[in-house]
Amino acid sequence: MSAKRRRQHADGPSVVVVGGGFAGLSAVQALGRSGATVTLVEQNIYSTFQPLLYQVATAGLTSADVAYPLWAAAGKAGARFRKGELARLDTEQRVVYLAAGEQISYDYLILATGVSAAFFGVAGAAEHSLSLYTRRDSVTLRNQLLDALELRNEGLTDPELDITVVGGGATGVELAGTLAELRNIALPAAFPQIDRSAFRVRLIEMAPALLLPYRDSLREYTRQQLLRRSVDVMLGTAIKEVRPGSVLLADGTEHRSDMTVWAAGIGAPAADWNAGLPRGKGGRIEVGPDLRVVGQDRVFAAGDLSINGSEPAPQLAQPAIQQGRHAGGQVARLIAGRPTEPFCYHDKGIMATIGRRSAVVQLPAGLRLRGTMAWVGWLGLHLIYLLGNRNRLVTLVNLSWRYLTWSRGGGVIIGDDVPPGAGH
Ligand SMILES: Cc1cc2nc3c(=O)[nH]c(=O)nc-3n(C[C@H](O)[C@H](O)[C@H](O)COP(=O)(O)OP(=O)(O)OC[C@H]3O[C@@H](n4cnc5c(N)ncnc54)[C@H](O)[C@@H]3O)c2cc1C
Repeated sequence: MSAKRRRQHADGPSVVVVGGGFAGLSAVQALGRSGATVTLVEQNIYSTFQPLLYQVATAGLTSADVAYPLWAAAGKAGARFRKGELARLDTEQRVVYLAAGEQISYDYLILATGVSAAFFGVAGAAEHSLSLYTRRDSVTLRNQLLDALELRNEGLTDPELDITVVGGGATGVELAGTLAELRNIALPAAFPQIDRSAFRVRLIEMAPALLLPYRDSLREYTRQQLLRRSVDVMLGTAIKEVRPGSVLLADGTEHRSDMTVWAAGIGAPAADWNAGLPRGKGGRIEVGPDLRVVGQDRVFAAGDLSINGSEPAPQLAQPAIQQGRHAGGQVARLIAGRPTEPFCYHDKGIMATIGRRSAVVQLPAGLRLRGTMAWVGWLGLHLIYLLGNRNRLVTLVNLSWRYLTWSRGGGVIIGDDVPPGAGH
C-alpha cells in the first residue's frame, strides 16, 4: 500500500467489521477504496473454509488446508487486523468492546459473526454429540474417529463401531457419504484388522427427504447414492435424546451410537453483544432491505448472522459473500454522501457432494446435474473459492491423493492422539 493511501485511510472515517468469514472478508474488500480506516476483528487469526471441514473430519485434508491467515487477507484490502472476540457493543457511543479489554470506536460497524450449531433443546445433544462448525470441531472429530479405528484395529476395544450423523442437509450428507467411503475403500488397507461389517454409518433426518432445497430427482439420487455406499438412511425420524453411546428416537427405540455428529441445525447464539439488537428466526439479527440492522443508522449485519424478514437468504457461502460485499458497498456510499441501495440476492445455484464422483448441482435456470460431471464442478468451484494459492494447491494434491490411493492405504491423514477417556 502506498504512503498516500495509508495516510488517506488514517484520516478517513473508522469502519469496524466483525467476523472474518465469507461475509466479513467480502465487506472488507468492498471497503478497499472507500477512504475509510477499516479494522477487521475476528476471534481467530484465520478465516475458515467451512465447506471442506468434513474432509478434515474424515482425515482427507489437514486443518491448515481450510484456513487462511487474516492479517494477509486484511492487508491485501488495505485494512488492519485485530484478533479478538466481540464481547459488548455500545451503539450509542459507537464502541465495540473485545473480550480481552480493548475498545475500538467506529463510525460504521458491519457485523458478520456467522452462526453456530443449534440443538433445538434436544436432551443431551449439546453434551454428547460432536459438531462440525469450526476448524477445531473438525480436528476433534478426526482425532476421535482415528482413535476409535486404531483401538479396534488393535483389538483393544469392542469391535463394533456405530456412527450416527444427525441431519440430512448438505453437511450431513457429505459427512455420512465420506465416512462410508472411508470404511468401504480405505479401511482394508489402512486398518486391516477391523471387521468392516461392524462399522456402521447411519444418517438420521427428521424430514421425509434429504437435501430439502433440491428437486425431488436430486434428493432421490442422493438417497440412492448413500444406500449404495451402505449408509443406513433413516428419514422422517426425530431424535428425542442423545446419550453417551446411543441415540433415543422419538418412537422410543434406542440405537447404539459410539459417535454422534450433530449436523441438524444452526442458529445465532444469544450473547451480551447482541442483547440490544433485534433478533429474528434462529436468533439472526434483523436487517432492513439495505442490510442495516433494524433501528440502527450505522450498523449493518451480513451473512448467516443476518435475516431480512421479508426475503431471508439461504445460509450459504454465496449469499454471505454477496451480502458482505453489499454491506461494505453501502458503508462506502454513506461515506461518500450517497443514499444506500437495497440488497438483491443473485442465486448462482446450489451443490452438494455425496462422495467420490458423486454430487448434485441445481442451477437457477432449471439445469440439474448429478454424478461425475457434477462432482468435477463441485471440486473446481471449491478450489476457486478456497482462499490462498497454497491452500488450493495442497487441497488439490491431498484430495487427488485421497481418491487415487485410498484403496492402498493412502489418503488418511494422521490425527493427534486422543487423551485417555476423551474419545470413544
Ligand atoms: C460444515 C459446513 C459445510 C458447509 N458447506 C457449504 C457448502 O458446501 N456450500 C455453501 O455455500 N455453504 C456451505 N456452508 C455454509 C457456509 O459456510 C456459511 O453460509 C458461510 O460460512 C457464512 O459466512 P459468514 O461470513 O456469514 O459466517 P462464517 O463463515 O461463519 O464467519 C463468521 C466468523 O465470525 C467469527 N466470530 C464469531 N463470533 C465472533 C465474535 N464474538 N468475535 C469475533 N469473531 C467472531 C467466527 O470465528 C467466523 O470466522 C457450510 C457450513 C458448514 C458449517
